[in-house]
Amino acid sequence: MTRDEARALDEADPLRSFRARFQLPEGLIYLDGNSLGALPKAVVARQAETVVTEWGEALIRGWNAHDWIGAPQRVGAKIAALIGAKPHEVIVADSTSVNLFKLLIAAAKLSERPNILSEAGNFRTDLYVADGAAELLGLRLEAVARDEVEARIGADTNLLLLTHVHYMSGARFDMAALTARARAAGALTLWDLSHSAGAVPLDLNGDGVELAVGCGYKYLNGGPGAPAFLYVAEHLQERLMPALRGWMGHEAPFAFDDEYRPAPGLGRFLVGTPPVLGMAALETALDAFDGVTMAELWAKSIRLFDLFRALMAERCPDLRCISPADPEARGGHISFAHPHAFEICQALIAADVIGDFRAPDVLRLGLTPLYLGFEDIWRAVDTLAAILASESWRDPKFAVRGKVT
Ligand SMILES: *Cc1c(COP(=O)(O)O)cnc(C)c1O
Repeated sequence: MTRDEARALDEADPLRSFRARFQLPEGLIYLDGNSLGALPKAVVARQAETVVTEWGEALIRGWNAHDWIGAPQRVGAKIAALIGAKPHEVIVADSTSVNLFKLLIAAAKLSERPNILSEAGNFRTDLYVADGAAELLGLRLEAVARDEVEARIGADTNLLLLTHVHYMSGARFDMAALTARARAAGALTLWDLSHSAGAVPLDLNGDGVELAVGCGYKYLNGGPGAPAFLYVAEHLQERLMPALRGWMGHEAPFAFDDEYRPAPGLGRFLVGTPPVLGMAALETALDAFDGVTMAELWAKSIRLFDLFRALMAERCPDLRCISPADPEARGGHISFAHPHAFEICQALIAADVIGDFRAPDVLRLGLTPLYLGFEDIWRAVDTLAAILASESWRDPKFAVRGKVT
């Protein structure tokens, strides 16, 4: 495929106009929307309004006048529409790590069984949080190899904790099958959707999912440190009692009762005061999905992936693709292993193509169909091929590691 052919694909792309919804530096190719989504232009005005008009003028009255207090449910309902959930099955709160902890504790207490089962190599926060929760409840965290998870589900499994799309390889679990398998064995499943929400079509209700958490700042474009979300299936909501009992999760926070009574439904999983500025950014960012279905986005994502993979095999064969080729078995990013992935990634960033590195040896590139086109993919691979051919990545400046990699 030539650059002109890639450009022709962009011209025929029905989703081409969505890129104009984002503010991206001229000439830069952004392949890291799986780590921090790009800035939707509408968020700039919304932030200004929330700060200047709402905070600046309404002051404390904003909680009612601008319904700041309703943001967790309101923004949750918008996310619900993207993940196949009912509007009242999702709320926005805290970080993904904190939401994991809240749901793990509440759900694991429903069962007498001893083990929380997860995947070795899962995103570390999931394992750390599960380990802490297990310690607190006197349970055991059992983390087994990916291909052993299903067989390991058994009568001792209290709860299955899995990340739907793997942060490194992009490999995707079969959500419906594993949830059903765990349920048949008498265990609930908690899914981490951090790399799935806004990237792949999800049908939490259709797949029988009971519990899930996910991230606001990746494919949902909510901004750095955006609040996260949590999902609990309707039928389970009243059975879960939060251990982290904040006043915002009380049935009547402003009654100031000494005794805790959980709010009906998901409201009980709110803890403290919602971060209004972050909520506003995420709420408006989600409008970037207006007018397009996840199925349409996914269809384009598959084409971006296939082009990336084919061009890389042809022009950068030293970088080994570790992401599954089958679209059903993966998410929205493509990853390559190379012993010098870190330096190559830094050289790539210096050439205005932003991807990221994941230890120990993976170059990870996010394919976000809302703001990426086929010519971008062509240029990214062309840039990588030049870096590899010239070995410019060997410059010592590309070996310097910052605090965040
Ligand atoms: C990004 C990510 C998180 C993020 O957790 P934070 O609490 O927002 O830092 C959690 N889990 C997975 C699988 C992720 O990919």
